[in-house]
Amino acid sequence: MTQRAMADGLTSECDIHLVPIDEARGCTYCLRFLASAPKAGELTLLQRLDELEQWLTARRSVPTEALYERIEELAGRGISLHELDDPDLFLRRAQRPSRQTDYWDW
Ligand SMILES: [Zn+2]
Repeated sequence: MTQRAMADGLTSECDIHLVPIDEARGCTYCLRFLASAPKAGELTLLQRLDELEQWLTARRSVPTEALYERIEELAGRGISLHELDDPDLFLRRAQRPSRQTDYWDW
């Protein structure tokens, strides 16, 4: 409805929580999750990929910066916004370090 929310890519309902989204802030539940989300190092590779897939495929439910930050955390690297245009490719790349997964828990 508001220009700002549209420019930010927010939709009116959260795909994950099926609740209306606060247009200015994003989905309250998603934001609450992000505020206390586990660090990537506390998750297994599979958990990280599952969560990445969720963020990449659901309609955007939080402000871009918040989403971006979480995806970078999960991917373990800095990303460019255009990478999010191709979730399949992104997820394939994210799987690549899996061979060294045992060494990630330093
Ligand atoms: Zn949500």
